[in-house]
Amino acid sequence: MELLKSTRSIQTEPEVTTAAPPSALHNIERCAERPYIIKNYMPKFQENISLAKFTHYKIGGRARFFFEAKSEKDIAWAIKEAKKRKLPIFILGAGTNMLIADDGFNGLILRPNLQKLTIKKDSAMVGAGVLMSDLVKATAAKSLSGLEWAGGLPGTFGGAVRGNAGCFGCETKDTIISVRSFDIKAMKFIERTGKECAFGYRHSIFKKKNGNEIIVSASIKLEKGDKKAITKAIREKIDHRKKNHPLEHPNAGSIFKNVPLAVLYKKKSDQYKKALHASTISLKGSTFSIKTDPFPVISAAKLISETGLRGVSFGGAMISPKHPNFIVNVLNAGSPDVKNLMILAKAEVHKKFDVQLEEEVQMI
Ligand SMILES: Cc1cc2nc3c(=O)[nH]c(=O)nc-3n(C[C@H](O)[C@H](O)[C@H](O)COP(=O)(O)OP(=O)(O)OC[C@H]3O[C@@H](n4cnc5c(N)ncnc54)[C@H](O)[C@@H]3O)c2cc1C
Repeated sequence: MELLKSTRSIQTEPEVTTAAPPSALHNIERCAERPYIIKNYMPKFQENISLAKFTHYKIGGRARFFFEAKSEKDIAWAIKEAKKRKLPIFILGAGTNMLIADDGFNGLILRPNLQKLTIKKDSAMVGAGVLMSDLVKATAAKSLSGLEWAGGLPGTFGGAVRGNAGCFGCETKDTIISVRSFDIKAMKFIERTGKECAFGYRHSIFKKKNGNEIIVSASIKLEKGDKKAITKAIREKIDHRKKNHPLEHPNAGSIFKNVPLAVLYKKKSDQYKKALHASTISLKGSTFSIKTDPFPVISAAKLISETGLRGVSFGGAMISPKHPNFIVNVLNAGSPDVKNLMILAKAEVHKKFDVQLEEEVQMI
């Protein structure tokens, strides 16, 4: 197995920025009575921006260009501008599921930071940039049930829709009515129903489009509930995460997806049918609990744990002893440090269990 070379470097240069306020297009309208401002007032990309501070991992080099879009107009403008300059484009949410290379990104990093949140009687319209924690809090405050499962889920709403984030047996797709996105190739906004988004396990049509669609907002359905019960359920999820996740170190959540029984066994086999009715299965002498996530899976963390890799480190990164599906940044880790541990975990799990782990974390 070939391990990558650790090329950790400490970033010391100051940031150069040519920033103008990101929502400049709106301001142009607002400043119509002051034409001398309009003349010099255009949105601009920031340059040479360190991405480490925009990721939960605190890992990543610099973006050649960086732009924080606060409106649909901003998004359309930025994409047009990037195309004009022939720049590769990458969409970044809160960076909670990202491993960015130490070399950075030689193109435009676009953050769709649309913050509009309109809560109605039994639904809400949510901008892609709204943090899940804010959404969960705001809907609970209005006694609306449906998002309790997302208590403590980091990241933006847009990121959650794109990856169909889920936990505790629920997924983002469960509440989605429709999603509005911007198609980078066609240069137009599109509306899709939840069904048309083709959601699957940590999957959606947006993931399949491979960065060519930017989620800008979505409408979700909720239902009236008891505020106390909703708040208690959210608190339980947050407490569970605090207890079980190594939140004391920068991380990107689960590195690998849990493994569905449907991947372990042929779907029509007797083994599969038997496993569907069992609470545990045995693989190469190890016993695995079957979790509902929301369909039957075995835990990637347990697979890694059974290979004896808990606590193994490379450079500044470590396979968490607390939760081995987390690779934590314990000491200024670089991207290759994390990647080496990913390669190691995949190889050891494959060798021991003949199971191929699949990455959940997104890498650029
Ligand atoms: C401590 C911790 C616990 C976690 N627990 C869970 C969990 O229980 N379940 C779970 O599913 N995930 C979990 N995650 C992973 C992460 O929180 C989710 O995947 C989250 O939804 C990612 O959102 P983000 O805004 O941070 O996206 P980012 O990490 O910034 O981006 C992730 C991907 O989404 C794309 N993306 C982001 N925003 C948009 C947009 N508006 N339009 C199009 N594409 C976009 C990016 O291009 C990238 O490919 C956890 C992460 C951490 C750090």
